[in-house]
Amino acid sequence: MNRNHADVIIIGGGIIGCAIAYDLAKRNVKPLVIDKAHTVGTEASWAGAGILTSHASTHEPYPTLCRASLELYPSLAEELRTETQIDIEFIQSGTLSVFFNRAEAAGLIGLADRRVKRGFSTEVLTAEQAWELEPTLSKSIAGAVLFPEDAQVRNPKMVTALAKGAAKHGAEFQVGNPVTDFVRASENGGNRVIGVVVNGETLYADTFVIAAGCWAGALTAQLDVPIQIEPAKGQIVLVEAMPPPFKHIVDGLGIYVVPRADGKILLGATVEFVGYDKTATVDGAKQMIDAGIAIAPKLADSTFVQTWVGLRPYVKKGPLLGYLPGYDNVVLASGHFKNGILLAPITGQLIGELLTTGQPSLSLEPFQPNGV
Ligand SMILES: Cc1cc2nc3c(=O)[nH]c(=O)nc-3n(C[C@H](O)[C@H](O)[C@H](O)COP(=O)(O)OP(=O)(O)OC[C@H]3O[C@@H](n4cnc5c(N)ncnc54)[C@H](O)[C@@H]3O)c2cc1C
Repeated sequence: MNRNHADVIIIGGGIIGCAIAYDLAKRNVKPLVIDKAHTVGTEASWAGAGILTSHASTHEPYPTLCRASLELYPSLAEELRTETQIDIEFIQSGTLSVFFNRAEAAGLIGLADRRVKRGFSTEVLTAEQAWELEPTLSKSIAGAVLFPEDAQVRNPKMVTALAKGAAKHGAEFQVGNPVTDFVRASENGGNRVIGVVVNGETLYADTFVIAAGCWAGALTAQLDVPIQIEPAKGQIVLVEAMPPPFKHIVDGLGIYVVPRADGKILLGATVEFVGYDKTATVDGAKQMIDAGIAIAPKLADSTFVQTWVGLRPYVKKGPLLGYLPGYDNVVLASGHFKNGILLAPITGQLIGELLTTGQPSLSLEPFQPNGV
């Protein structure tokens, strides 16, 4: 990067910004990632549970996007291990979705059918078969559906690895202060951004990517493109149990239980639309703990470790990936809501392709940010 001029400025160093930086840097484009926090990946991308779910979706083309991203994970995990010596703890643990009654069974079996039609494997299990796989599951379950392709990753390690890998290929990082303004120039009747203001200083680039999670809407508004991206608060409870009660990710009763490689177990997560409030509440923790114990009574004996909160970037029909209307050098990559960890690899690749070849390998048409 020349002093104060980068090829691409990426605003936001969460998992999405870092995945884009990693992809661009490998293509010999020099990005500068700017984050308001003192290190990258401290917001939703740190707080996430790290589930990579093959059944995250309902309507095409979203499932195709999820699947494409999930498929990138095994090789990306290996690549990051080689390049950065960081193990992102990608584990194909599968998800066991348990049901307690007929209505829940019907919903889950319908989901399993739709997944099979999209080429995923699923297995509907009786309660006995589920107990055989996971003996600590409640005796009240009526059955389960196994989604064997589901996996998990340690997202904080993933962000660190992506950032380290990007830096190794020439990306630069400026952390600790937010982008507060854009510098625009009118050219041939159109708008272009030429710089961003950080701590009173203008930093210039040819192209800009807004990857600021649930804060992205505030930035697009400064460019006179109102896009509603809301924070969706999620509370997680971390406990520890030895031996770990499960091998699989287990979900049911509106929550998931994730057994991590280090023996700790995540119980998550609430979905609350309460603005930018990051308070961990007793009620939020109670909901997770009550449902966790109903799924596996033994969890009542586990040791409480901590709770935390993160703000998912929610848009009604997301994610939003593409050029901002009215600008030919500003790209938005946000609104990944509950699946940003899953979708980070494909987002990095598609935005990398968009900016270098103009031809992403999957159409971004359905994900265009059109403003509201
Ligand atoms: C409790 C919880 C559980 C989740 N579980 C999962 C899961 O199991 N699987 C999954 O796939 N996804 C999960 N998610 C969702 C996932 O974490 C998010 O979709 C993803 O992290 C979004 O990444 P991001 O980079 O867009 O946003 P963020 O991680 O929020 O990053 C945005 C970055 O932009 C920076 N920023 C904002 N404004 C500015 C500015 N003006 N200037 C400079 N920097 C700025 C912020 O500091 C931040 O670092 C979960 C989320 C939560 C909260």
